Amino acid sequence: MPDVGPMAVELARDLIRVDTSNPPGRETAAARLLQDFLAHHGIAAELIGPDPDRQNLVATVKGRGAGPSIALSGHLDVVPAGELSAWQHPPFSGHLDDDGYVWGRGAVDMKQQVATRAAALVALVQSGIAPAGDVRLIAQADEEVNTGGVGMSWLVANRPDLRTDWAIEEGGGGRIDLPDGRIGVTYGVADKALLPLLLHVRGPGGHASNPGAVTNPTVTLARLVAAIGAAPVERELVPTADHMLRGVLGSSAPSTASVGELVAAAQAAVPRMASSFDAITRTTFTPTMLTGSQAVNVIPDHATCRIDCRLLPGGDPDAAIARLRGILTAAAARGDVWELEAIAAPIGGSASEPDATFTSACEAALHRVDGDPALTFVPVLNSFYTDASHLRRTWGTTTYGCWPWKFTPPADFGSGVHAANERVLATDIEYAARWHMELLLGLAEG
Ligand SMILES: [Zn+2]
Repeated sequence: MPDVGPMAVELARDLIRVDTSNPPGRETAAARLLQDFLAHHGIAAELIGPDPDRQNLVATVKGRGAGPSIALSGHLDVVPAGELSAWQHPPFSGHLDDDGYVWGRGAVDMKQQVATRAAALVALVQSGIAPAGDVRLIAQADEEVNTGGVGMSWLVANRPDLRTDWAIEEGGGGRIDLPDGRIGVTYGVADKALLPLLLHVRGPGGHASNPGAVTNPTVTLARLVAAIGAAPVERELVPTADHMLRGVLGSSAPSTASVGELVAAAQAAVPRMASSFDAITRTTFTPTMLTGSQAVNVIPDHATCRIDCRLLPGGDPDAAIARLRGILTAAAARGDVWELEAIAAPIGGSASEPDATFTSACEAALHRVDGDPALTFVPVLNSFYTDASHLRRTWGTTTYGCWPWKFTPPADFGSGVHAANERVLATDIEYAARWHMELLLGLAEG
């Protein structure tokens, strides 16, 4: 049997070399590369989807019907590379440097993860062990933009036959030093939803040389945006956030505490995750995109701000909009003309009830790979959404976001995501590939 680790590293580098920047995506080339890799190891895979340029790959190893089915899933698209001069090694090179880093767009998010999942499927087949339940590899298009209706949203709606009981997706696998001395490994069980909002401010417009003549929407907008930034925090504790905070705090969790006290205790225990603990215990409103006049000497008649609003799982969009309207009303002056609208339905937002059997299989596989029996899985609510939300919401699949890694310094791992110089140590790709293989073999043996 070829070593699953080096096989995954080579496949990750090959996948990075296929430019699947989304937009436009054009993931079919990467899906074909993966299809050829699997075919080389005797595994048939189909390419499916409504857009020939944006196909999804699905490969299935049939089980004995003696256990839950599981999907190993990940997206093949990446965000654009941005300014090429900012990269130490070209973003589509898949360069392996002397320090052991694999470089390129998708080295962390998430072609290296797809590669480890494909390599683990090969290892399962080569082991000759028939799995208990079906094991499926899904490599989908269009996660990053997620509005093309060609990736996971299309798969869950159009191919219910591909549904699995369990799934492994992205959004977890990092390590936390827990206050009781143990090491926690995160696994995503829930995610927040994005509700994109648009704030309009209007006025008559006029000559910028005579600012006293009219109300300037740009000035009003600046005041309203500042008020959004300064609004008091209103905390809310959903069950998945409660599990996460208490999972981090362990026995040091205060038994009777307000949400604010629980958050403060977790922030003190793990300062590196302070902003995450904040984000998962409230609805956030983050102003991002501004428009105003098209000319320096024109007071515009219309200025706008797009706002990235994130809802907790199960959160009510109307309640979030009402809360933001309250903040804006308090900040607006008499005569200000403004309106707030949702420009799309919420995207993402989901939660899986953790499954004890699934979780302990994940933990046992990590103990076998790592040799440290004290590693503990900690369930997390992600502040961002992933394709896991489609699996959870449409298929009811218990979906964990997990790609365990340990060698890459966390700052290196995180800093390149959606930014320049995305990179990961090859030793982490090998480690994660072995975890996926151990998970599949452990489940196969039942
Ligand atoms: Zn991703």
